[in-house]
Amino acid sequence: MSCAVWQAAFVVLASPWYRCRACFRRATPVRYLLIDDAKKVAACVDPAEAHLVLAKAKEEGVQLVAVLTTHHHYDHAGGNEEMTKQVPGIRVYGGRLDNVAACTDPLEHSDKFNIGSIEVCALHTPGHTRGSICYHCYDATDNQGLVFTGDTLFVAGCGRMFESTPEDFHNSLVNVLGALPPETQVYVGHEYTVKNLQFAVAVDAANKDLEQMLGWAQEQKAHTAVSGERVRRK
Ligand SMILES: [Zn+2]
Repeated sequence: MSCAVWQAAFVVLASPWYRCRACFRRATPVRYLLIDDAKKVAACVDPAEAHLVLAKAKEEGVQLVAVLTTHHHYDHAGGNEEMTKQVPGIRVYGGRLDNVAACTDPLEHSDKFNIGSIEVCALHTPGHTRGSICYHCYDATDNQGLVFTGDTLFVAGCGRMFESTPEDFHNSLVNVLGALPPETQVYVGHEYTVKNLQFAVAVDAANKDLEQMLGWAQEQKAHTAVSGERVRRK
């Protein structure tokens, strides 16, 4: 997988069988475009700012065929209506229990569908909301899949528990997401890594691994800030 800054807000992530455009903007969830280059089709994940995703798909020369909604909160599903207006026929996926805006394909645990030749499996992961769905995407020829986790799982933390029990949330994190192959790339809904690790270090001060990871995360953030600044000046 390669990773490079494309412009102030976008990062490109790639493997042999997919490309993923990620849009990071301060205080908003991360938006993703999952692209099958061979078939020139793409899915967007939580495109709450529809205009950004539409412009990016146009620039990439790909046809948007699906919206993957991780959960019903407005900062994730708020662009779904606009997407269906701008892209007639687009499929909008979301958890059956979540009442996702403009949903055309309500999902249960283990439901499967395709984005071009990319296979997608819905993982029902209640905890943050009752109907939260994580999307496990993979290719039959490559074991290294990826998963979009919305507000269920972040790097070094998880979302707030709004609509489920601690037992359900624990099961989602440990038994559902924890059962994915260890090589799985995780694409989270918000970038809270440093804050999560600062909290973890505060409650487990003797843990040297946490301290080391916090240093790494702070370093990564510094790189991103420097790159973004450089691009904005062009
Ligand atoms: Zn949320």
